[in-house]
Parts: sequence; structure tokens; C-alpha cells
Amino acid sequence: MAKRKPITRCPHCGSTEGIYTKTTLYNIPWCCGFGGEEQENGEMYDNAERQSGGEMAYCQNCDKIICRMSTLEKQWRESGVAR
Ligand SMILES: [Zn+2]
Repeated sequence: MAKRKPITRCPHCGSTEGIYTKTTLYNIPWCCGFGGEEQENGEMYDNAERQSGGEMAYCQNCDKIICRMSTLEKQWRESGVAR
């Protein structure tokens, strides 16, 4: 299996600040770092079910699409980040 280079920064602006994704549930951004760690998200997320699949990850800095969330989630699973 070919090992893909992990995404650790924005390919557009080089920011390592993190990414956000718009939940399909509320259409509000959900933020996390490139390592998969969650960042200051609103309390409403505690009860909200995040749905994966088809979501795109956006750069928090330049708002450009980085990749699919599923790509990042796969990367986090492979690197052992508990989800
Ligand atoms: Zn960027």
C-alpha cells in the first residue's frame, strides 16, 4: 500500500493553524488542528452528531479547500489519534 504524505499544513498558504469543516447538520464550522485535535468549538457540538463523508476540510487561514475530511480522518486513524 502506498503511503501518502500526511497533511500537516495548508497546501495553499502553508498555515498550520488548523482546518474547519461545515457540518451537514447545522452548516456551521467545526474546527480542529491538522493532527486531529479539536479546537474551541461551541458547546452545541457536544450533542451534535458530526456526519462524515463528502465534507471538505477548509483552511482556517485562507479558507481554501484542503482536502476531503475523510482523507484527514483516515490519516488520523492511521497515525493513532483516537476518534
Ligand atoms: Zn491556507
